[in-house]
Amino acid sequence: MINQKMFDLGAEPNKIRELFAYGLKRKAEIGAENVFDYSIGNPSVPAPECVHQAFVEQLQQDPVVAHEYTPSPGDPAVRKAIADYITSEFGISATAGNVYVTSGASSAIAITLSAICEPGDEVIAIAPYFPEYRTWTHTADCTLVEIPASVPSFQPDIAAIEAAINERTSAIIINSPNNPVGAVYTRENLQALAKMLAAKEQELGRRIFIVADEPYREITYGADIPYVPNLYADTIVCYSFSKSLSLPGERIGYIYVSDRMGDAQAISTAVAGAGRALGYICAPVMLQRVIAKCLGTPSDVATYASNRELLTQGLSELGYEYVQPEGAFYLWVRALEPDAIAFSERAKDYELLLVPSDSFGVKGWVRLSYCIARSTIERSMPAFRALMESYNG
Ligand code: PLP
Repeated sequence: MINQKMFDLGAEPNKIRELFAYGLKRKAEIGAENVFDYSIGNPSVPAPECVHQAFVEQLQQDPVVAHEYTPSPGDPAVRKAIADYITSEFGISATAGNVYVTSGASSAIAITLSAICEPGDEVIAIAPYFPEYRTWTHTADCTLVEIPASVPSFQPDIAAIEAAINERTSAIIINSPNNPVGAVYTRENLQALAKMLAAKEQELGRRIFIVADEPYREITYGADIPYVPNLYADTIVCYSFSKSLSLPGERIGYIYVSDRMGDAQAISTAVAGAGRALGYICAPVMLQRVIAKCLGTPSDVATYASNRELLTQGLSELGYEYVQPEGAFYLWVRALEPDAIAFSERAKDYELLLVPSDSFGVKGWVRLSYCIARSTIERSMPAFRALMESYNG
């Protein structure tokens, strides 16, 4: 016997990974330079020098210490360094006890949902959304309630979220800067969301958490990125170093339970319990200590900014419709037919790997990940032209 739910999840196709795997196969067949792989968010910018230095330091110390277990929520010194960074950067008195070090944002969100939800609860996501929100919500035996973003701004639709909240709602996941559309939620919109949620908490006599999924906090093109715990007390931040330090395969991030919550300690205890239950304890020790040395190291946003410029200019000249990204490194482009899956399949004929929006809970668009080599973007333009021409006769 096996667990049917887990079997179904294992067997369920993940379009992003599928396209990524197809791209690897195709590159082996026809040469990497002939495949225009916009599928996955694997940063093309190398990790900063600080990371290299910190790794070397870790390797030069006593090898027993270098590879030891840390306490389940992380090395106390690392948790303190993260708390001190939050305090100095965002003006909140963060304490180490409310920081839980994780293997990236994935485990951070999975832990958080399991910690704050009871089976049968509802979790709201703003569509389009990161596909794994569905998985982690279902793992916590909860239902994901998808609320479309306002179009064309792709900001959260506060009235629609308000209408969806009921006595089973336990959390709303927000992600700004956003994957897949590149939107940055404005301060006004987040303030309105916070005000509405606080009123709903009063009305329903129930906690409603914001889970702020923030892997792209530092990847912006000049936009203001408010720190959500400063706007809404019941916020849990799920942070990742995958993008900010270009460490996606190293699996490191953290959960921060806002100290502005009166009962933050109890919530952190539930986080520790969920981490233990799911087996997400003692994040990789070397990475913990490396990131502690590199907190606040600036990301190389200039590369992504110039890719954004090149891609948007090229696609607009060809007549594609897209959402101007304010952050992250994704471009949300209107498919040239209503069925985005069919459009993505046709794009493959031109060696263009574009993720259909169905994966993100909406229809009719594709996502292009532009954290790739500039030369790939340059070389892909004739393919985009040919794809457009295939529709326009
Ligand atoms: N949330 C969003 C919005 C993402 O884009 C990603 C990764 O691409 C994750 C979470 C997971 O990040 P991590 O690599 O830290 O697990």
